[in-house]
Amino acid sequence: MPARFDTLIREVSLYDGSGAPARLADVALRAGRIEAIGAVTGVARESVDGSGLALAPGFIDVHTHDDFAAVMHADMAFKLVGGVTTCIVGNCGFGAAPFAAAMVMAKTLHPKLDLPPWEGYAGYARVLERNPPGVNVGLLVGHGTARLAAMGPGNRPPSGAEMTAMKAIVSEGLEAGALGLSSGLVYDPGRFAATEELIELASVLRGSGALYATHMRDEGSRLLESVREAIRIGDAAGVPVQISHHKASGRTAWGLVGESLKLIEAAQRRGLDVHADQYPYTAGSTILSAVFRDGKLRGVLGDLRPEDVVIASTARHPEWEGKSIAALAGAMGRTAEEAAARILTGDSGVTVVLHAMSEEDVRTVMRHPSTMIGSDGIPTLEGKPHPRLYGTFARVLGRYARDEGLFPLEEAVFRMTGFPAAKFGLRDRGVVKEGAHADLVLFDPHRIIDRGTFDEPHLPPDGIEAVYVNGVKAIAGGRPTGARGGRVLRRASMHAPA
Ligand SMILES: [Zn+2]
Repeated sequence: MPARFDTLIREVSLYDGSGAPARLADVALRAGRIEAIGAVTGVARESVDGSGLALAPGFIDVHTHDDFAAVMHADMAFKLVGGVTTCIVGNCGFGAAPFAAAMVMAKTLHPKLDLPPWEGYAGYARVLERNPPGVNVGLLVGHGTARLAAMGPGNRPPSGAEMTAMKAIVSEGLEAGALGLSSGLVYDPGRFAATEELIELASVLRGSGALYATHMRDEGSRLLESVREAIRIGDAAGVPVQISHHKASGRTAWGLVGESLKLIEAAQRRGLDVHADQYPYTAGSTILSAVFRDGKLRGVLGDLRPEDVVIASTARHPEWEGKSIAALAGAMGRTAEEAAARILTGDSGVTVVLHAMSEEDVRTVMRHPSTMIGSDGIPTLEGKPHPRLYGTFARVLGRYARDEGLFPLEEAVFRMTGFPAAKFGLRDRGVVKEGAHADLVLFDPHRIIDRGTFDEPHLPPDGIEAVYVNGVKAIAGGRPTGARGGRVLRRASMHAPA
């Protein structure tokens, strides 16, 4: 009897996620796993001619804000079209629990959000398991959310009882399988936390393998102090560190990444498990209220020029989307600061795109071996979100690896598959090997490229032919099938693989 498979992809150029060069192979899938690799004989329900195409592990987006999108837009088509099969949610201190605090913070991104409540991170995971999303989801506990729930929005240190309450939230998340704790030290209320508070909370993770991921206090002219703080927290708490969206923001900070990378190298030499992630663009994106503070368009994201700050989404005034603060100020006959204040009046859910980085810095960070890829995409699907939401992985593969030769394609694949899977503790993911989960992306290495622009961000990338999530075909011929094969991914060291 011939072997029977669900899917057999023949004669494909296989990038296995380890960083090894491609090899020609057949890859057979059965029951959500990779069953055989090499010269495979047998029959399959679906047979795919892989000649001329590349097969890689599905991309792991280590930096997303898709906690609520995974519930509201469960098909997750906006991620799948870019080859993403796993999203790590809960970044920048914004977690999915406790529910009431999570809703307050989520409304800065989704002003119209209205969801039935869940109990803790375990309850959130159950919601995803009852109504599975199109991609796998791994979660981080959000420090900002925990702080808001335990002690309200105030700018003060926690009392002993409040610290105990925050620790209980972190523990509950870890019990529910969270991969780590995130902080967002430019946002309310995370920015009110002293380093010692973060050390104490991160210490709850010690020994679990879970990591501390941080949107640091300042990515502008105080970038180096911020990296030192992240490293200090990792050292003192005894936990791995992930520096989120590593960059130097604002012209006066350009070039500092040369030094921040050296700080990471030095900490690694001392034995700290510290890495970073990056999105491949010279523009960032965040909420306007984090950029415009105390009447000024400057600060923790560097010195920003009004022409460099562009409205991405605002529910009350969609006609402002795509326009810069400078242009809106001109139209209103006001100064840039007056215009920013007016835009925020009565509407805290305003997101912006910031054209604030140098191309040279982006390349310097990307080339460095400490860097993996994460989109930081903001799923405000109705406005003009930063095109990184869709294009991040195709852009690294097509533009930076293939067209610019920044690194070989197998290295680019490693930075978005095997490397993040190892860092975040995702067992049998991020690699194509027998027995691994069948998260796969089939793409044309000669065609793959991002297409979205700041004016037209919703264009999906080109060259992605098929995507499988746990063996379920979610993209066929470049289009979403609507099939949802995602699972909640819990820490490998605590739980048996899903
Ligand atoms: Zn962030």
